[in-house]
Amino acid sequence: MDSWPALIAIAIAVFFVMEWVAWAAHKYIMHGWGWGWHESHHEPHDDLFEKNDLYAVVFAVFAVALFALGTFADLPVVTAVASGITLYGLFYFIVHDGLVHQRWPFRHIPHRGYAKRLVQAHRLHHAVKGKDDCVSFGFLYAPPVETLSAQLRASGKVAAEAQERRAAP
Ligand SMILES: [Zn+2]
Ligand SMILES: [Zn+2]
Repeated sequence: MDSWPALIAIAIAVFFVMEWVAWAAHKYIMHGWGWGWHESHHEPHDDLFEKNDLYAVVFAVFAVALFALGTFADLPVVTAVASGITLYGLFYFIVHDGLVHQRWPFRHIPHRGYAKRLVQAHRLHHAVKGKDDCVSFGFLYAPPVETLSAQLRASGKVAAEAQERRAAP
């Protein structure tokens, strides 16, 4: 298949599916058996890189492999899929590494609209210590902040941590 509109539609569909893939990978892999890499992202540090960046490398290698397959085997659909994954990676980098974690040399904090909601939601993801009882595992879609705050309150983890800090000498 090599009709451009269809290929672009595939790339855009893959882009949206990737949000679900990233959500599931974050919730069930990174906060599960993959915590060994992801933990570095939940601990405060001054290093330029985190072990967690290896996940981005894995996704990038996967996308590059698909681009190679699409090009050399002349499979435009595969190239379209690889394009969708890469586009998602770009948005993920802008929102997560850029807007939320400020891993770029300029400071911009969105104060309005959907971008603000995304940033606040991911800050809430980092509101509790450790891998359990976290909320908001998506990156480009986030539930309303009130919903996430209610989830956090319901788990009692934030209150328990505050209690712990007060008890500490
Ligand atoms: Zn996480
Ligand atoms: Zn983060």
